[in-house]
Amino acid sequence: MKKWYAVIGDPIAHSLSPFMHETWFKENGIEASYIPVRVEPADLAKACESLLLMGASGFNVTLPHKQAIIPFLSGIDETAGSMNAVNTVIRKDRKFFGLNTDGDGFVQSLLTTEPERDAKILVIGAGGAARGICFALSRANFENVTIANRTYRRAEELAEETDASAMTIAEAEENLGNFDIVIQTTSVGLAEDEALPLSISNMKSDALAADIVYNPIETPFLKAAEAKGCRTLSGVGMFVYQGAIAFEQWTGKKPDTEKMIQLITETLGGNYVNR
Ligand code: NAP
Repeated sequence: MKKWYAVIGDPIAHSLSPFMHETWFKENGIEASYIPVRVEPADLAKACESLLLMGASGFNVTLPHKQAIIPFLSGIDETAGSMNAVNTVIRKDRKFFGLNTDGDGFVQSLLTTEPERDAKILVIGAGGAARGICFALSRANFENVTIANRTYRRAEELAEETDASAMTIAEAEENLGNFDIVIQTTSVGLAEDEALPLSISNMKSDALAADIVYNPIETPFLKAAEAKGCRTLSGVGMFVYQGAIAFEQWTGKKPDTEKMIQLITETLGGNYVNR
């Protein structure tokens, strides 16, 4: 039987995951399809049961189900456990297991910029995505990480769990000139005219600015950093690499990430290039 995969979320029509995975199936000669399924929060348990009964070989999970899905799976791995969130589900026998590839996806994207392991890194935000990124940075031996968040308590808690330091947003603004890499993980920036999560006037001009929001590709944070002469890394890389890790888990094949980053950048209408 032809294998099939899905992405569940609400809303889901905007998702680029079907385009990405179907392209990779074709490129790798795999007979499989990948469909978007809108699942309302109240229907999550029924949806999981149906995906299992109908023979899905695996699926991705996006907002708002990344945490809520956990009780409906047979288990989750350590990474998903530390984040308390799942973005990828694999099928083993007649059971579903949850993983989280977001943090490692970000780090793989960051590694394309060839950062030093002792680079001073500031992570802005302490939400779900920041949790994945901070744990993945720690696993990848980045030893100098500071977390700043609007709600300082969350930054402190995450810093304690990942052996990082915490700062308030005001402290981060003041000390921004000390950081080599600044990673914007808050949901601020989804609208092109939105304010920044912090003032970047003290940022070094040779720092790397990375955003994990990828639509728009060139977020207000990246635009402001670029105007200061900084190198920039868009969130498209994280999106593609988190998908590539899931694809490899499902099929055992490594997809072409570089070409996909180009394709998605074009699809989003940008002529943006990471600088
Ligand atoms: P989340 O768990 O809701 O966390 C949101 C974070 O943003 C929190 O740190 C929150 O601070 C902060 N925040 C929200 N509004 C703010 C504001 N007005 N000013 C300052 N800080 C604000 O969300 P998430 O799951 O981490 O996702 C964050 C973003 O990452 C989303 O835009 C998502 O689309 C994107 N993302 C991208 C990828 C990718 O593949 N590129 C993957 C996952 C997520 P408080 O703690 O103070 O509320």
